[in-house]
Amino acid sequence: MVKSTKFAIMLGGNLGDSEKIFVRALEKLASGGCRELKMSRIHRSAAVDCVPGTPDFSDAAATGEWDGSPFALLRLCQEIEREAGRPADHSSRESRTLDLDIILFGDAVIDTPELKVPHPRAQIRRFVLEPLSELLPAARFPDSGRKIEECLGILPPEV
Ligand code: ADP
Ligand code: MG
Repeated sequence: MVKSTKFAIMLGGNLGDSEKIFVRALEKLASGGCRELKMSRIHRSAAVDCVPGTPDFSDAAATGEWDGSPFALLRLCQEIEREAGRPADHSSRESRTLDLDIILFGDAVIDTPELKVPHPRAQIRRFVLEPLSELLPAARFPDSGRKIEECLGILPPEV
């Protein structure tokens, strides 16, 4: 029997028409096997930890169900990033058309070089927590045990 897991990912980008790029990414996630997909509103924020002059980012959360391994979901996300024009050899703080990060995968805690879940910076980034709370107001991060709302409550105002 195939096990189905509820996951949450973040879509981010600051080049091109983010709304079109995100909607297209959702279509590709669906054709790649994700079910029950839902996307939050798109939030805009100033770039964090980027060189001065970096364009503002658009970020949205999406949730869905996936029948395979989290590593297979990561490969699907990376293929969709490449199709959206993101070079494979990018640096992590570069401007990009599309960044797809897996934030939660059921209650799994994964710590490998290729994949870390929950995403290591998710609990300290307002641009992750706010869109995510629209879709999963009651969810907890399985590593810290904190609810998304609690993480938002303890963020310093400038983050
Ligand atoms: P960032 O998202 O931090 O800006 P990248 O998108 O360039 O950086 O990702 C760099 C690497 O992060 C990828 O090669 C991927 O294998 C790894 N990675 C580790 N954990 C995750 C995760 N939860 N979701 C997506 N990528 C991850
Ligand atoms: Mg990424």
